[in-house]
Amino acid sequence: MLLDVQNVKKVYKSRGNQTTALQSIDFGVNEGEFVAIMGESGSGKSTLLNIIATFDQPTEGSVYLNGMNTSEIKKDKIAMFRREQLGFVFQDFNVLDTFSNRDNILLPLVLSNKSVKDMDQAINQIAPMLGIEELLDKYPYEISGGQRQRVAIARAIITKPSLLLADEPTGALDSKSSEQILHILEDLNDAGNTILMVTHSTYAASFSKRVLFIKDGVVYHELYRGDESNQSFNERISQSLTLLADRGA
Ligand code: ADP
Repeated sequence: MLLDVQNVKKVYKSRGNQTTALQSIDFGVNEGEFVAIMGESGSGKSTLLNIIATFDQPTEGSVYLNGMNTSEIKKDKIAMFRREQLGFVFQDFNVLDTFSNRDNILLPLVLSNKSVKDMDQAINQIAPMLGIEELLDKYPYEISGGQRQRVAIARAIITKPSLLLADEPTGALDSKSSEQILHILEDLNDAGNTILMVTHSTYAASFSKRVLFIKDGVVYHELYRGDESNQSFNERISQSLTLLADRGA
């Protein structure tokens, strides 16, 4: 198993107040999967993603990536671990306006001291997949939100990470750009990339192959897409949400 989340609990403590953001989360992701995590605002999605991303530590439980307990990685190795093992795509793109799109995408390779030849080869390989060849010498402020997200995805995958983590990747986009980004994620998954995406959108989740539903800090339901189309999976996800809400689950 590529990612193994075992019994993860997270309690935030501040000035005598305690908030249990995650009660006990258990799930695994195999290599090649595209998994969406759905839940309402406040259900613990960001907390879970931050723990998997090694930005935060669980109060109890463990996260294993490629068999490695991420809590046991030494402080001075954590940046390298993230850069080599994980790719990140955020809602608000997180691209740097003072760098060209090309330099934004190459940044992780520069930090890893790759040669110019390796960098050129890597960018030439992924730019066509994302339809951004014409944008490389422009700056992020010169392109649209959807294009910026494509640049951000290129930066996330250029190191060939084991796992691509996406936090509401279409949250700041119009419906047409959202659809393009979700098709790109679907294509990247078909090409072998493992993706874990957090979203509150049933439409976005319908592009994944498996949906985990979280509420009150536990995974309380799971759906597999099978051979279904996006549209019929989207309907099934929406029905599940309605049914589970009616049951007061
Ligand atoms: P989601 O991403 O699904 O909206 P979050 O993970 O942001 O949910 O939040 C889960 C719960 O944890 C909420 O009750 C939230 O108020 C609380 N929470 C999140 N971050 C912190 C923090 N840094 N300190 C205290 N409480 C927090």
